[in-house]
Amino acid sequence: IQSMHYFFFIVFQVALRIRPLSDAELEEGATIIAHKVDDQMVVLMDPMEDPDDILRAHRSREKTYMFDVAFDYSATQDEVYRSTTKGLIEGLISGYNATVFAYGPTGCGKTYTMLGTDREPGIYVRTLNDLFKAIEETSDDMQYSVSMSYLEIYNEMIRDLLNPSSGFLDLREDSKGEIQVTGITEVSTINAREVMELLMKGNKQRTQEPTAANQTSSRSHAVLQVGVRQQSRCRDILQEVRFARLFMIDLAGSERASQTQNRGQRLKEGAHINRSLLALGNCINALSEKNGNKYVNYRDSKLTRLLKDSLGGNSRTVMIAHISPASLAFEDSRNTLTYADRAKSIRTRVKRNLLNVSYHVAQYTSIISDLRSEIQRL
Ligand code: ADP
Ligand code: MG
Repeated sequence: IQSMHYFFFIVFQVALRIRPLSDAELEEGATIIAHKVDDQMVVLMDPMEDPDDILRAHRSREKTYMFDVAFDYSATQDEVYRSTTKGLIEGLISGYNATVFAYGPTGCGKTYTMLGTDREPGIYVRTLNDLFKAIEETSDDMQYSVSMSYLEIYNEMIRDLLNPSSGFLDLREDSKGEIQVTGITEVSTINAREVMELLMKGNKQRTQEPTAANQTSSRSHAVLQVGVRQQSRCRDILQEVRFARLFMIDLAGSERASQTQNRGQRLKEGAHINRSLLALGNCINALSEKNGNKYVNYRDSKLTRLLKDSLGGNSRTVMIAHISPASLAFEDSRNTLTYADRAKSIRTRVKRNLLNVSYHVAQYTSIISDLRSEIQRL
């Protein structure tokens, strides 16, 4: 046996977070048009309505959307983490890949959700903290090692955020068919306290450029990649049994290039951003087809190549879409809600990564019973 795979269906979770109204929006006289109705429902009102429009009565002034979970200004970083990402950790240490990505226009809270601040750390740090804790609580005959790398995809080029001077890095497929970034810095045996410092430093290396629409617009996708390697001790010999990968991604702003009146270099960058996000959107579209046999082209962009396994089914995936509550952001919010709504229909199959060949039958039996109970829980 080369490897054993157990398949079952899981949900591609889609969450929506509405950030608080900002001071700048308040000053511009913005009103709040996006509301959380309950833990799953969000309503968006159309602020552009013309009171003289005679068709008004026949048109719906508001549109509601349902997500797996919805958050508004009152949600804490901890609540967002617990209802989205925390549940992935157990799977990760049992060999299931996981992916979390933050989607939405610039300024809507993606980096706040993922990285956060020193006082209000986001999903990156909370996840790594709990991952280390979970590993400590596992039995001694299992040995885990965690490695971490942090990269950005900017203009369809990959840069190492932990070692920016290393230039542009390539993607290649390894012998197991997994996509790897050649020459990326891997930090291992990291202590939870050092993580935030490392990521804050890395984040400062992200490419941010001023555009007409925003002071700073994040045009790069930041990808935190965490590898969890598990070895079992069998008669004092360590054997690798599982390797699972967690991607936590702070995507580039999803606003359209046309709205930022980009020119020249900005436009070129915008086109590239669109290419990666467009490719992501196309993959999401193809994957959400009901019959499920539409061709999914992962090769269209660096981002989708890197996420191939995750989107393609071998990962538990959480998408957190972000919007501003402000009236001025109506178009962007509607686009984001539509995009997130479409992503809801993705249902993936996940396989557990078992690498070892000579794993004892008794252990297979226990894995099977694990999986049975997991299926029952779903
Ligand atoms: P993005 O990464 O999507 O461009 P940011 O995360 O940088 O947006 O958020 C823009 C601004 O709004 C930042 O100053 C951030 O601190 C603030 N912000 C975003 N979301 C929240 C939130 N949920 N609570 C408080 N402040 C937030
Ligand atoms: Mg950002």
